[in-house]
Amino acid sequence: MICERCSAGGDLSDVWTVGMGSSSLAYNPSFWDDDGQQHDHDINYHSQDYRCSNGHSWTFRHRLGCPAPGCSHEAVMESVFHDDYLDTEGIVR
Ligand SMILES: [Zn+2]
Ligand SMILES: [Zn+2]
Repeated sequence: MICERCSAGGDLSDVWTVGMGSSSLAYNPSFWDDDGQQHDHDINYHSQDYRCSNGHSWTFRHRLGCPAPGCSHEAVMESVFHDDYLDTEGIVR
């Protein structure tokens, strides 16, 4: 894990995990489509908070993709920076 903010700015930083991480625990059925193709649609997001030595903090979350070719249920891997979250919520100054 590297800090995307620091790497975008060419800075170096150490990264720590924050807390234990979490995952949602929804039931996750497999099914077969009319071509007999097996689908596995993971709807459980796994997330972990991180912070870096330059003061950035973010949540990394991921979800597995479906192994069936051409299926639109793709893997998700994303870092959500917490100050981005605050920006979209709007801060009253
Ligand atoms: Zn950083
Ligand atoms: Zn699928």
